[in-house]
Amino acid sequence: MTTLAEDIQAQIDRFNAGIQERNPAEYEFHQAVQEFTEMVMPYVLEHPKYRDGHILERMTEPDRIVIFRVCWENDEGSICCNRAWRVQFNNAIGPYKGGMRFHPSVTQSVLKFLGFEQVYKNALTGLPMGGAKGGSNFNPKGKSDREVMRFCQSLMTELSRHIGEDTDVPAGDIGVGAREISYLFGQYKRLQNRFTGVLTGKGVAFGGSLIRTEATGYGVVYFTKHMLARHHKTLANKTAIISGSGNVALYCAEKLVQEGAKVLTLSDSSGFIHDPDGIDQNKLAWVMTLKTERRGRISEYTEQYPTSTFYPGQRPWSVSADLAFPCATQNELAEGDAKLLVTNGIQLVAEGANMPCTMEAVRYMCEADLLLAPAKAANAGGVAVSGLEQSQNAQRLPWTREDVDHRLQDIMAHIHQQCVVYGEEKDGHIDYVRGANIAGFVKVADAMLAYGIA
Ligand code: GLU
Repeated sequence: MTTLAEDIQAQIDRFNAGIQERNPAEYEFHQAVQEFTEMVMPYVLEHPKYRDGHILERMTEPDRIVIFRVCWENDEGSICCNRAWRVQFNNAIGPYKGGMRFHPSVTQSVLKFLGFEQVYKNALTGLPMGGAKGGSNFNPKGKSDREVMRFCQSLMTELSRHIGEDTDVPAGDIGVGAREISYLFGQYKRLQNRFTGVLTGKGVAFGGSLIRTEATGYGVVYFTKHMLARHHKTLANKTAIISGSGNVALYCAEKLVQEGAKVLTLSDSSGFIHDPDGIDQNKLAWVMTLKTERRGRISEYTEQYPTSTFYPGQRPWSVSADLAFPCATQNELAEGDAKLLVTNGIQLVAEGANMPCTMEAVRYMCEADLLLAPAKAANAGGVAVSGLEQSQNAQRLPWTREDVDHRLQDIMAHIHQQCVVYGEEKDGHIDYVRGANIAGFVKVADAMLAYGIA
C-alpha cells in the first residue's frame, strides 16, 4: 500500500521525467518546472478540472520560441555573430511581458526557465500580463557604446516582427538597462514609424515610468515588510546581507536604509565587499555612479571606503546578519550556503533575483522554518511597474512618482495577501513558496481552461 504522499510524489516524478525527456539538457528549465510542480501537483490532483484538463502539460509547453541570428560589426570592423531568442511562454491573461537578458550564460534553457517563472510572477501582480523572456549570449561587458548600439539595432531588426504593444512587450534584465532599452526602442520606432509602448524601462523623456528603475528592489523590501509585520517585527535596526550590485540590489539596499536597516554587503561576479559600518545612502550613491556610469568593479569600494573588505571570488552568505537578499542571478545560493545562513541566525531570505536559491537550498530553508520569500512574489515589483508604464503609455499620460510608488506598494500588499490565502497552514504558518506558486497557477489555469482546448 502506498500512502497519498507517496502517490503524489510518484506523479510529480513521472511528470518531471517527461519534462526532462522532452527538453533534453535544459537544466534550468527542469529546475523551475520541478519546483513549481512540487508545490502545485497536490492542488491539481485535488481539483479534477485541472487534472483532467492536463493543465500542467499545457502550461509547461511554451506558446512559441523565436530563435534568430544577430550579426553586427565591432569597432575594429570585424563581423560578429550572436544568437538571440524570444520565448513567448503564455498569453492567457494578457500580452506577453518580460525582460531581455544579454549575458554570455544565456541559453534557451535559461530563457525558458525565466519565461516560465515570468508567467506566474506576472499573474500574481493582478495586472493583465502574460509571460515571456528573451535575450542573447552577447556580452555587453567591455563593449563600446557604439558596439552595443549596433548590436541592439541588429537584434531589433528581427525582433520587431514578433513584438508589439498588444502582442509582446519586452523590457530589461541582466545586461539590458537604460542604454540598451533606448537603442532597442529607437530602432523599433524607426522600423515601424510608430511611437508606442512596445518596450518598458524607457527613459522618462520618451514614455518611461518614474520608479521603474527602483521598482524591483523597492518591491522586495515592501514584500519583506509585510512578512515581518505578520511576526510583529519591523526592518528598523535589522542587519542585511545583499548579493549583486545591479538595479535590484542597489534599490533594495536603498529602501532598506530608508527603513532603518543596516546593509553590510554587495557583490559582483568578481567577489563581495563587507562594510561593517553599513552601506549608507551616500555610499550607495557612489556605488550607483560606479556601476551605471563608470561600469566599474565592486572591489573599488574598498579604495573609497577603507574600513570595508573585499573578498575575491566569494559570495556574502558567510556574513552574520538578520536578513539575506540574493539579488544577483540564478543558483547563487546553494544548500551549503543555506546551512550557513541558518547557523548564522538569518531569519528571512527574500529572493530579489530570479531563482537565486537552488532547489536543495529552498528545501533546507523551509525545513529549518526560515521565512523564505520566493522570487515570483518578492521580485514582481519590477514587472508590476512595467505594467504601470504600459498603462501610462496607453493613456498617453505620465503619473507622478508618488502615484506609481503607492500603486507599487498596493500591488506588493496584494501579492503578499495571495500568498497568505494559498499558503497558510493549519498552525497559522505561511508557506510563501507554496502560496505564491498556487496563487499564480490558479489565475493562469482558469483562463486557459476558459478558452477550451488550446
Ligand atoms: N526582467 C524583469 C523580471 O524578471 C522585469 C521584466 C519586465 O519589466 O517586463 O521580472
